[in-house]
Amino acid sequence: MRLVMFGPPGAGKGTQAARLSEHFRVPALSTGDILRAAVAEGSALGKQVKSVMESGALVSDELITDVVIARMNAGDCDRGFLLDGFPRTVGQAEALEGLLSAALDGVVSIEVGEEELLARLRGRASEQGRSDDNEETIRSRLSVYKEQTAPLLPFYESRGLLRSIDGTGTPDEVFALILASLKS
Ligand code: AMP
Repeated sequence: MRLVMFGPPGAGKGTQAARLSEHFRVPALSTGDILRAAVAEGSALGKQVKSVMESGALVSDELITDVVIARMNAGDCDRGFLLDGFPRTVGQAEALEGLLSAALDGVVSIEVGEEELLARLRGRASEQGRSDDNEETIRSRLSVYKEQTAPLLPFYESRGLLRSIDGTGTPDEVFALILASLKS
């Protein structure tokens, strides 16, 4: 199973990717988690991306594509993978198409309205203390999503891959909707 988890920050991509990973027994690859780990380690990659991440902007397509290639070559992606947080620009989606030997099985787009997203991201900021979850960065991440990432919706729609899911229910409800959409 090769899936892309798609949606704005706070939509629940990570939560659903973890469940789908267990269900389909394929790894969930979160580019945000990989970069946060690099920052925490203080590696060369971490030093390169720290300030960009803190601003809520995107790191470059070249850099993140290299990160994804390295992760996919780690040896556990033979049966498939779930991509969480990649691709985030049309350039990244094109790079992904070039990388894959077979097409994706689907792109799961989790849809949640802006007010609900803001409330969830503010909640996450106080619970997890993520340094990119302060008010200013939250707004900038949402506008980056609208400007740079939302254009991927027609890109994947035109390839017949898009599965649009109502993400406002409980995690169990959203998970059930995703599984149903993948069967149809
Ligand atoms: P996330 O946890 O997926 O929201 O990612 C946190 C931050 O990591 C983003 O705000 C970006 O700065 C960076 N990042 C993660 N994935 C990507 C990507 N595919 N392209 C560019 N930047 C990314």
